[in-house]
Amino acid sequence: MTRYGMIINCEVCIGCYNCFLSCQDEFCGNEYQGYSAAAPLEGHNWMRVIDKERGEFPKVKMAYIPKTCMHCENAPCIEAARNNAVYRRQDGIVIIDPQKAKGQKQIVSACPYRVIEWNEQEQVPQKCIMCAHLLDKGLKEPRCVEACPTNALIFGDMDDPDSDISKILKRKSFEKLSPEFELKEKVLYNGLPKRFISGTVVYQDKNECAENLQVELVGGTGKTTSITNEFGDFEFEGLEADKTYRVIIDQSGYNGEDLEIQTLRDVHLGEIYLNPEG
Ligand code: SF4
Ligand code: SF4
Repeated sequence: MTRYGMIINCEVCIGCYNCFLSCQDEFCGNEYQGYSAAAPLEGHNWMRVIDKERGEFPKVKMAYIPKTCMHCENAPCIEAARNNAVYRRQDGIVIIDPQKAKGQKQIVSACPYRVIEWNEQEQVPQKCIMCAHLLDKGLKEPRCVEACPTNALIFGDMDDPDSDISKILKRKSFEKLSPEFELKEKVLYNGLPKRFISGTVVYQDKNECAENLQVELVGGTGKTTSITNEFGDFEFEGLEADKTYRVIIDQSGYNGEDLEIQTLRDVHLGEIYLNPEG
């Protein structure tokens, strides 16, 4: 049986908004009978891209998290609807019936992901339908997936062993955007931003960047190392939030450093000066 799903790879998302724009192009002002009423020309974000600024000056990084309906197996929006106005199709796509859902504003607040929008003009709740109207005509993927220039969105039948998505799912495990909701989401993520610790190592006596130096990080799942680049910079990515780590620098001829850091946020340690022994 077909069971549609999507993987969103934040590691390659460049925040170009093509997914958002193609979704707007498909649904704004266009009605698809039985699938969705026309979305308003502005104000709706069925596919939104969350910009996340990480770190602080001088070490700032951007992350982009595309977010849409997760087409949950345990979908509270289905529970909240009267008259079966929200239902899951055989292929797993969750649809809000544009006729039956008229006037049912309570459906909007039932979604913990907050991806349902209220269409004031049509008096109907609306959200991503995975372009079910196009898939039913034989198209292979939703408009957002087709428009993504970096293949950050991977769509397909998770029950088809030959589909790209099921091959990828077999090789690697993926995350849910908010696993604490426990909704058996069909949209999974790779590369969701975690925490980083970074810094720059400098030899105090020579006033020189410490290139090619091994920096050790202890904590979380164990021990890992980073080698400083030509500017003395090191970085540890993908760390757990709200954990205690130790950054250890041990260079012969110099006094070592052993710094305890809590990842309450991304941490840039700035310049760490190594002083000669003695
Ligand atoms: S993400 Fe929200 S709208 Fe989509 S299926 Fe889950 S509960 Fe319903
Ligand atoms: S189209 Fe692709 S790269 Fe561009 S914002 Fe959307 S997911 Fe990211």
